[in-house]
Amino acid sequence: MKHTPVYEGLTAIFKRARKPQAVGELLTALYKSGLQPNKTTVYRQLEKMESEGLVRRVNISDTNATYEAVSDAHHHHLVCERCGEVRDIVMKDESHLLRTIAAEGFAPKVHKLEIFGLCKECGADK
Ligand SMILES: [Zn+2]
Ligand SMILES: [Zn+2]
Repeated sequence: MKHTPVYEGLTAIFKRARKPQAVGELLTALYKSGLQPNKTTVYRQLEKMESEGLVRRVNISDTNATYEAVSDAHHHHLVCERCGEVRDIVMKDESHLLRTIAAEGFAPKVHKLEIFGLCKECGADK
């Protein structure tokens, strides 16, 4: 399958990204790499990549669609409401959570959990 330049560009950006990327940030990065796709093209490409299991949408903003690559271990996010820092966090044991859900007779496929608050710097004795 032949990939479009936008696909290649997005793949490269996600590869070096250290945090989830809002569509606006992705657009800026694509422009910097010499591409000039419009927003709709980028949205469509992201939806396609999501359906292929390459990226997933992260619920850290109600206003900006934000994505990250599906590559590393299952994790959640700590989002600072003041400075916007996003940190990955791996929960030690989610089996109790999954057992509770199974007890409801529900078969979970995926879950997303983002925790909002203040990071160490922003929350420090203030
Ligand atoms: Zn989890
Ligand atoms: Zn902060």
